[in-house]
Amino acid sequence: MNLDDMYRETILDHNQMPRNKGTLARPTHTVGLLNPTCGDSIRIDVLIEDGKVADIRFDGQGCAISMASASMLTQAVKGRTVDEALNLARDFKQFLLGQDPNRDLGELAALEGVSHFPSRVKCATLAHNALQKALSEGGGEPPR
Ligand code: ZN
Repeated sequence: MNLDDMYRETILDHNQMPRNKGTLARPTHTVGLLNPTCGDSIRIDVLIEDGKVADIRFDGQGCAISMASASMLTQAVKGRTVDEALNLARDFKQFLLGQDPNRDLGELAALEGVSHFPSRVKCATLAHNALQKALSEGGGEPPR
């Protein structure tokens, strides 16, 4: 299996069996974002306790890239501190813009191919933008 196939498998796997899909009963932070270019819509619920991401869920609908990216992101930031989660979101966005993240992005690296398609970068970064917005602004009522 070459790297491309492995990456494709990872994206398909997260798309078919999304991790942390759903909503939280009592999120401390929640944000909904739309990507009108593709029609993706994502809501992120986060529960911050003691400065850490104690729990996180995403909900919504969209293309395989947006859903797989959200699934991988929730998995990657669970248990991390707020700063670590924000740094990961920032590094991933830089990575998709072709910059070297200087760190291991874990499964999120499977989305590398997206960087060759600027129109799809918005799909892959939608959940990351929602997380950044939620953690920096605290959210508010998400769109239903
Ligand atoms: Zn999309």
